[in-house]
Amino acid sequence: MTGTDDGVATTRSPEVAVIGGGIVGLSTAYALREQGVPVRLHEAGLPGTGQSGGESRIFRHAHDDPRLVAFACESRGVWDEWAEHFNVGLVSSDGVLAIGDSALARLRVLNQVGGVEAHEIDAVAVTLLSAVARTS
Ligand SMILES: Cc1cc2nc3c(=O)[nH]c(=O)nc-3n(C[C@H](O)[C@H](O)[C@H](O)COP(=O)(O)OP(=O)(O)OC[C@H]3O[C@@H](n4cnc5c(N)ncnc54)[C@H](O)[C@@H]3O)c2cc1C
Repeated sequence: MTGTDDGVATTRSPEVAVIGGGIVGLSTAYALREQGVPVRLHEAGLPGTGQSGGESRIFRHAHDDPRLVAFACESRGVWDEWAEHFNVGLVSSDGVLAIGDSALARLRVLNQVGGVEAHEIDAVAVTLLSAVARTS
């Protein structure tokens, strides 16, 4: 918005309306606020109770496309910064066991891009990890 104040031309960012207080809306609103953009978030219910809430959400680094892996790594860095800023855990440090035909191909992509600790394990280790997962 452009206006005048005592005859001096001023320019300020327009207020941005963000609709929805899920992970996308909240992180968008926060990123805008960080950059000094006035923002108002509109939520029909309670923030964080849409699709973004739940026990089963994971942060996935492994993708077929190296560009997505690189984006995920960059994004993870921002989440880590925000976790430190708010002194709260946002993404858990649990590991992931990937199995199936796509796992090895994605492992190659992860290693090609770098930045994510990932390696192949043998059948014995898979059995042990599965047993640990069942009992925890
Ligand atoms: C069971 C399940 C498992 C999933 N697992 C994963 C996973 O492992 N990893 C992963 O990355 N993704 C996962 N996803 C997908 C992920 O959860 C969603 O992509 C993500 O949460 C979408 O976030 P969002 O902010 O767009 O939507 P939501 O979290 O749904 O937020 C939308 C918000 O907008 C509000 N709203 C809607 N309409 C209006 C309106 N007109 N005015 C005001 N407010 C409005 C709603 O009340 C809600 O709070 C999973 C999804 C489900 C359902």
